[in-house]
Amino acid sequence: MSAVRSLRKLGRAALLGPSPRHALPDAIEHVAKAHRAHHPGADLDALRRAYVLAESSHRGQTRKSGEPYITHPLAVTLILAELGAETTTLTASLLHDTVEDTEVTLEQVRAEFGEEVGYLVDGVTKLEKVDYGAAAEPETFRKMLVATGNDVRVMSIKLADRLHNMRTLGVMRPEKQARIARVTRDVLIPLAERLGVQALKTELEDLAFAVLHPEEYTRTRELIREHNAGADPLAGIAESVRAVLREADIAAEVLIRPRHFLSVHRARAKRGELGPCDFGRLLILVAENADCYAVLGELHTCFTPMMSEFKDFIAVPKFNLYQSLHTAVADTGGRVAEVLVRTHRMHRVAEAGVIALGDPHRAPGASGADPAGEAAAADDGRADPTRPGWLERLLEWQSHAPDPDTFWAELRDDLAQDREITVFCTDPGGPGRTAALHLPAGATCVDAAYARYGAAGHALVGARVDGRLAALGTVLSDGDSLQLLMAPEGTSGPSPQWLEHARTPTARIAIRTWIDACAEDGERSEGAGGQARTARPAAAREPALPPAAVPDGPPAVPGGPRRAVQPRQRPAAVAGMPGAPVRLARCCTPVPPDAVVGFAVRGGAVTAHREGCPTVARMTAAGRETVAVRWQDSGAGCRVTLHAESLSRPHLLADLTEAIAAEGAAVVSAEVEPPREHRVRHTYTLRLEDAGELPRLMRAMREVPGVYDVVRATSPQP
Ligand code: MN
Repeated sequence: MSAVRSLRKLGRAALLGPSPRHALPDAIEHVAKAHRAHHPGADLDALRRAYVLAESSHRGQTRKSGEPYITHPLAVTLILAELGAETTTLTASLLHDTVEDTEVTLEQVRAEFGEEVGYLVDGVTKLEKVDYGAAAEPETFRKMLVATGNDVRVMSIKLADRLHNMRTLGVMRPEKQARIARVTRDVLIPLAERLGVQALKTELEDLAFAVLHPEEYTRTRELIREHNAGADPLAGIAESVRAVLREADIAAEVLIRPRHFLSVHRARAKRGELGPCDFGRLLILVAENADCYAVLGELHTCFTPMMSEFKDFIAVPKFNLYQSLHTAVADTGGRVAEVLVRTHRMHRVAEAGVIALGDPHRAPGASGADPAGEAAAADDGRADPTRPGWLERLLEWQSHAPDPDTFWAELRDDLAQDREITVFCTDPGGPGRTAALHLPAGATCVDAAYARYGAAGHALVGARVDGRLAALGTVLSDGDSLQLLMAPEGTSGPSPQWLEHARTPTARIAIRTWIDACAEDGERSEGAGGQARTARPAAAREPALPPAAVPDGPPAVPGGPRRAVQPRQRPAAVAGMPGAPVRLARCCTPVPPDAVVGFAVRGGAVTAHREGCPTVARMTAAGRETVAVRWQDSGAGCRVTLHAESLSRPHLLADLTEAIAAEGAAVVSAEVEPPREHRVRHTYTLRLEDAGELPRLMRAMREVPGVYDVVRATSPQP
């Protein structure tokens, strides 16, 4: 039932056919047959004439593979015919490379085939390198998108053209393969997705996957091969579903739809290991919309539904025309099958997207209009699907793009907007546990940390992407493997710069909240006259200062001027927990000599409240244990700033801060510079009770694995 598979088979048949010169009818026979299957009354004369012109003008040209050039436009046209494209598209598709590569002129095409065919051929004709140089590719895409704005069939042809070129990419040099695969991934696949052309999108994804991630591709292929060698339990579930639907008197086709390679790869990454039911989904096709819900009702009654998997894309269609019900059910043996339920029409639109909609210039309902297109367009008053909103917006901004580079960069960015990437996140400490994170394209390590750990993402201090150390702002790509290096919770926090790296609302909101809270803390503490023990977002570098550190110097308040805090004139609160930083609660702002009581909060810090504060009563009632806190004259001791030069590794920061705490020193502030060549410099400002303890402290720090030097800073940190 896979359209992709049947496309491949027919594509191969066309290529293996006899030489087109001597077998003209055979050469377009497949195209004609596929076309007639969707459009029984189609007039094939234009197709025949287009073939004759294309074949004669490309004659003598060969593809890189050595095959006659005409095999390419034929294969492209067959792809479109299979998806149900109407005759004008197919005519233009046969001619799509003539103006670019042969003596045929656009005027000639217009004269012989009419304005529409001329427009489509012009739309997909590349701009010359001679005229545009390096800008030829971006400018060609710009031109193509503008043409698509007037007639979406331009992009249909381009997508099919790219699919055939990707299928035959193997003859190219590896660098060229990778370059083409990247443009396919960044531009063509998102366009196919947005235009709803699932059949082209999935095959393009697998072809790009094979080029860009050959090892994962091979591993996935092996998994699928192993799976196919055994019995498919989905077959048994499909049989039970058929019986249930027969019993309920609902006419339905129940099919097993294998996942494509990239989908298997993603599913495996998401679930760790794949069960035998995970290599495909059940596809249930029915006649009417209402039947979809009837099927759903039976499924959810006769099997155990996994309600979290239920999605109604009929009531709430995706932006790209896609409609279906998604659910998952478990049979009596506990085997879970994912199920898609849709009508035949929805299925066709899901596979072929805008290609199923036919001629965009023909009013819906006009005679000869494509029946599927008519139904889709008339359905529910949705905006014209051949002129979707994203395309309007794209056409608007592209007209302001000052140069081809800007256009090209913005285009990929724009198309990435609602694309999702999957990165595979391994806990460095854990026993190789990997979680798949689904992030919007453009997401960085910062986004990944918050997606993985929620607000505890604040503790991010470093990251490895595909095994290599990476800056926190590194933009992740689909399929990256990621290790997030986390400080012990509460010892590190985000800097305002992180906002520049955060793309996801989750991360942005968490960071903003943190920074606002820090700023407010600083103000309150200062106003209360107590020594400010505030969290302090790092001003200059990431990762940030520990939130619970005790700044003796002026705290940097984001967005505000630095303000002086009188150092050590007032007693500070210290907890009965060695080394635990203390924050003065904002609800009651204790000042000496108030009696104070503390509660351990986030990552070992302690919040000090006045004894009579209602929060204390509430927290005690809630079973929270109090921590002894007292005021202390902090005039004693000394401050020192140390640089620790180390080889970067997971948990380094944690181990170093632990060694420091074990020596009885308090961390006032800490900074970690972005690693360079696997080396990293940590800078700590510490407070010691006694300067005489310094040599022992430095020795202890040098003994932390990975640390190769600890030196005193020549000037103290600000
Ligand atoms: Mn072509």
